[in-house]
Amino acid sequence: MSTENNSELLFKNSVKILTDLISFKTISGEDNNSLIDYCDKILKNLGATSFRTFDDDKKRVNLFATLKAKNSSNKKPIILSGHTDVVPVSKGWSTDPFTATIKENKLYGRGSCDMKGFIACTLAFAPIYSQSNLDRDIHFSFTFDEETACQGAPILINELKKRNIKNGICIIGEPTNMKIIDAHKGCYEYTTYFKGLAGHSSAPHKGVSAVEYASRYVNKLIELREKLKERSPKNSIFEPPYSTLSIGGVFGGIAHNVIADKCHVNWETRPVIKEDAIFLNNELDKYTNEVLLPEMKKIYSNATIEKEIIGEIIGFDREEKSEACEFVSSITGDNSREVVSFGTEAGLFQEIGISTAVCGPGSIEQAHKIDEFIKLEEINKCLNFLNGVKNKSIQK
Ligand SMILES: [Zn+2]
Repeated sequence: MSTENNSELLFKNSVKILTDLISFKTISGEDNNSLIDYCDKILKNLGATSFRTFDDDKKRVNLFATLKAKNSSNKKPIILSGHTDVVPVSKGWSTDPFTATIKENKLYGRGSCDMKGFIACTLAFAPIYSQSNLDRDIHFSFTFDEETACQGAPILINELKKRNIKNGICIIGEPTNMKIIDAHKGCYEYTTYFKGLAGHSSAPHKGVSAVEYASRYVNKLIELREKLKERSPKNSIFEPPYSTLSIGGVFGGIAHNVIADKCHVNWETRPVIKEDAIFLNNELDKYTNEVLLPEMKKIYSNATIEKEIIGEIIGFDREEKSEACEFVSSITGDNSREVVSFGTEAGLFQEIGISTAVCGPGSIEQAHKIDEFIKLEEINKCLNFLNGVKNKSIQK
């Protein structure tokens, strides 16, 4: 068979697999077992070994599969990593979001670019890896619930640590138009709940207004936001250069004349360095425990302030010399490095010593939107890249 036909077949398979993947409605938080079964089956049929890690009720699954090297060398293993969840769909799609539809060289469907497109390419390419004389392991890492503050990946990372898989080159195929992303800020989200004592507004001293204490808490956050600016690291690569903080919402109270007994505040911070997040939380917890809570308890001993962690996606730090970035550059010929404003699982892999780059097909512009699509040429670009990975993973 000619190379021409081979690449055509490869492309067709990628589209077929992507079509299948899109049909699994793996919205974050939902059961993704059938999608994982589907991926696992493809890889197992090629001789891959795999293991799964789960959430507490085994509803959501991570898959880690390996095509073993035929001739071991000292080359580091490659991890091709993608998340299997997609964001919810809102009304207004021109096509069924869970039925892949090709129009004008674009494939439409929820998850087409973010990021089932990448997963489909890796699965379509897997038969070629399995037939190659690999001199390093190639891993496939498919996680759940990345879109909801990376809930799945930490469970997988824990298992990797246990199995001593802490050395490697990880490519996270988030949609970057196959450009290399080598850093992003962290993204930490919290909800803080205030429980006070209801009462008649005419006697504020007899109640504990959850809304008023929440307001003071918000003020403290805004005060700390200024401190974060002062802590801005020199030569920061980010825009803005400092850690940001934002109040997403304050919810509480039922009427003008009732002291509110409940209130909660949604807020988030995007630290440029991990220390900022630690500083912020320490200062905040101190204010809560030493100032606000004792005041509330003086009137009502059952008063509480509880900070719930919605998610703490650690930042992805730029490395002066990143093996993963250099690996990708050596294949794509693109030596540029970019910083993005969205979060990924990259920092989690980096944290255990795995060199990581974010690079994948499709554009983030189309992600999380109505009529999400991936350009078909992006699929080909990704397949070319995966072919480059093969060339760098066989004995010559
Ligand atoms: Zn994504």
